[in-house]
Amino acid sequence: MQKLQGIAVSPGVAIGEAFVMDNEGFRIPRRFVDRDAVDDELERLHQAIEAAAVEIKRNRDAVSRELGKEYGAIFEAHLQMLHDPRLRGELEQMIRERHYAPEYAVSRTLRRYAKVFQTLDSSYLAERANDIFDIEKRLLRNLLGRRREELSRLTSPVLILARNLTPSETANLDRRFVIGLVTEVGGAGSHTAIVAEGLGIPAVVGTGPFMTDVSGGELVIIDGDQGLVILHPDEETIARYRHEVEQRRALTERLEALRDLPAETADGQRVDLFGNIEFPHEAKLCLARGAGGIGLYRTEFLYLGAETEPDEEAHYQAYAGVIETMAGRPVVIRTLDLGADKLLVGSNDDERNPFLGLRSIRLSLRNLPMFRTQLRAILRASVLGDVRVMFPLISTILELRQVKMLLADVMEDLEEHGQPFRRDLKVGIMVEVPSVVILIDRFVEEVDFLSIGTNDLIQYTLAVDRSNKDVAPLYTAADPAVLKLIELTIDAARRRGIAVNLCGQMSGSATYTMLLLGLGLRQMSVTPSAIPEIKKICRSVTIEQCQAVAARAMGLENARDIKSYLKGELKKILPELAG
Ligand code: PEP
Ligand code: MG
Repeated sequence: MQKLQGIAVSPGVAIGEAFVMDNEGFRIPRRFVDRDAVDDELERLHQAIEAAAVEIKRNRDAVSRELGKEYGAIFEAHLQMLHDPRLRGELEQMIRERHYAPEYAVSRTLRRYAKVFQTLDSSYLAERANDIFDIEKRLLRNLLGRRREELSRLTSPVLILARNLTPSETANLDRRFVIGLVTEVGGAGSHTAIVAEGLGIPAVVGTGPFMTDVSGGELVIIDGDQGLVILHPDEETIARYRHEVEQRRALTERLEALRDLPAETADGQRVDLFGNIEFPHEAKLCLARGAGGIGLYRTEFLYLGAETEPDEEAHYQAYAGVIETMAGRPVVIRTLDLGADKLLVGSNDDERNPFLGLRSIRLSLRNLPMFRTQLRAILRASVLGDVRVMFPLISTILELRQVKMLLADVMEDLEEHGQPFRRDLKVGIMVEVPSVVILIDRFVEEVDFLSIGTNDLIQYTLAVDRSNKDVAPLYTAADPAVLKLIELTIDAARRRGIAVNLCGQMSGSATYTMLLLGLGLRQMSVTPSAIPEIKKICRSVTIEQCQAVAARAMGLENARDIKSYLKGELKKILPELAG
């Protein structure tokens, strides 16, 4: 049994077969072979080794001819490894005695060798691990032929284990078959974390390297509450976690009874509980969980999941679908928030500080045809329901005025062409850059609503990259500085009489619900799977109780104390949600 500690980003427990994603998309089809098939499997292994040797010799000869013998020698080393009697002996033993399939035996053994190189204290030797991966891939290719199984074509439930996932990989995850997610890198605010939460599957990121410890096909447990990944779990651990899965299922069932009840505190204060979505189909999920609307529709995923740039009609169809599903409930469409970790393949990935660079609204303002296309589609869709538009990453008043002017310009354009749209469309901004909070009294004069984006607000307030596991302990919504900015924003909105929402991951975490209600927040937008839990808390507390919790928490001086105090208070009222 081997445990990896990472960052818990999406709650729940998943137990299942590992699908290890590396660059070639091999899936080890099975771990074991029948006893009477052993001789045939050994023969298959030998044939794969011989075929690999022929390929390597061909490469050696070609390179020697072009560049000289010295360069060809690189392949000589590969050949020696491939013909190493010890390696062959170990592989044969795994197949003969433990009945492993050749693919699994090859991958396990070579990854074990690679790990030895990686852990040696020399960057030169660590690099040599790549030679071993190279041989592994070559043998797998010869064993599996074309029988690869790519992420987009899964046929049975798996837990994805990867070094990292690109935004388009996460956007294309097949929800029927991906039941959990682990990545070596990443932090609590990374796009992988957000998508996993949206899918409602347990996820852990930032575990550090594990690629040499798994090949795929192994049983793995993901504990998305503790940020723990267990490779090769023993029977007792499996039984314990199965029990936990069962308890969770029972809790989910109990919470389902709340679906049609309002999110209202015990003393009758109404709370707007909305859902966050990345993909149009999630609107149905929000309704099924009892959301009162969509508080954040992250439209950039339209781009991240697509092979070609969406045109106005593609935007319009996506928005229309969501608005119609929500049948008159509010739908807040956020304009494109591309860049930083939500990058398009091939865009400026050599930016030194992508989170401080050309991202989000800045990128939209640099690419006006793209931005106008989106605004036209939003405006056209605005007549279909209660649509609102929201601009991300606003950092100055002039920027806000610029986007409002552009919106007015697009309105004129539509008017000229006789296209119907809602002229009184509500316009809001994300509050996710501290400069906006510092001048919040000026911003509230110029918008219809605010939505606090803690995912970014935390990183810009504390100077902590939201997707970097090495600084992850500093990345927390419980930091008193972050809480102060939230308090200032809520107060300013209330004074001005405009709505204020909180749509960062913070509002989907049960730990913070009482605090946020106590600070005066009456709108929260959360990942759909968290809606029942948050509703349950709202319905179990009074505003007075929450105000007392907020007052106490705001007096504490560090994130650790605040978090443990809040968890303690939650435990008092709803122990089953306190984790
Ligand atoms: C945020 O920053 O809190 C937010 C909701 O937006 P995103 O996570 O998409 O940056
Ligand atoms: Mg953001």
